[in-house]
Amino acid sequence: MASSSVINSKVWKGIWRAEASPKCKSFAWRAYMEELPVKTFLLEKGVIEDKLCPCCGEGEEDTTHALLACEEVKRIWFVALDLKVESLSAATKCSLSQWIEECVSTLDKKEMGMVCAIMWAIWHRRNALVFTEKKLDYAHVIAKARSMFVPVEWQPPSHPNVKANFAAAVRDNVGTGMGVIFRNSLGSTIASGTSLLAQECFESQIAETLCMSWAIEQSGELGLSDVIFETDCQRLYRKWNQESSSSSSAYTTYFESLVEDCKFMIEGTGSSLALVRPSANKVAQCLATLAFDYGERGWIEEVPQEASLYLQADDNAIADIVAAHQ
Ligand SMILES: [Zn+2]
Repeated sequence: MASSSVINSKVWKGIWRAEASPKCKSFAWRAYMEELPVKTFLLEKGVIEDKLCPCCGEGEEDTTHALLACEEVKRIWFVALDLKVESLSAATKCSLSQWIEECVSTLDKKEMGMVCAIMWAIWHRRNALVFTEKKLDYAHVIAKARSMFVPVEWQPPSHPNVKANFAAAVRDNVGTGMGVIFRNSLGSTIASGTSLLAQECFESQIAETLCMSWAIEQSGELGLSDVIFETDCQRLYRKWNQESSSSSSAYTTYFESLVEDCKFMIEGTGSSLALVRPSANKVAQCLATLAFDYGERGWIEEVPQEASLYLQADDNAIADIVAAHQ
């Protein structure tokens, strides 16, 4: 049998190569090492007086219950994802640490990234309940997890979708630069563009949403449908996935109304919004800063010279992915 330190180092590596935000990975490691302040642990320390799970009020809250075995948590795992974790059905019978060991040895780094992100989001939900008495719904938890396991590198869409990466850059006393690039499933550039708003946006999510609205217009002019718009703005992405504010609430922020406008614009076009890491959105970011020089301008089947290095980096990443699958 392998010694515990050998297993530990295997799990450590398995977690760290997972494709998820470092925050989620270090959380998964703490969970594996039984370092989370769950109630059974706090009771032992004499900090609290009961060990009942704050979510279901039935089981004793140890690490395994909190992240895996609680009935409420099980629902999140099952509803959550297109993740094929065969061992999930048997999960309640083993400890969380054993389950993580199994995940590390059976899942690829993408799937492992999802596991880390879901665990993190489940714990976030638990804390929201304990500390602010807010009960987050499953959709919220899943959106939160999804925003944490986005890939590090740009990936082409699957055929026949088109991806539109967009980004905004705000410059004090000048305005808001906007950039967009449309690429197909082969990674080839369909078009790219820049635009400059004289308006300064003081909140980045507003700049990003105005940029999205402009990018949607551009996609219309190019006659594109089924476009996956990609942003690296987490606030925009979260707002997008929240339930639209009900008509009973009279108060709508400017940001919310911009998001609703964008949703309205793409209705029925088969288009959607996805989140990418900033590292996977470099071409659009570069275009946004170039907007301060170019103003309103478009390029067909290419990007301006200044952005070509970033485009090349994305192409190299695609080549690596293709090579890895051969
Ligand atoms: Zn429970």
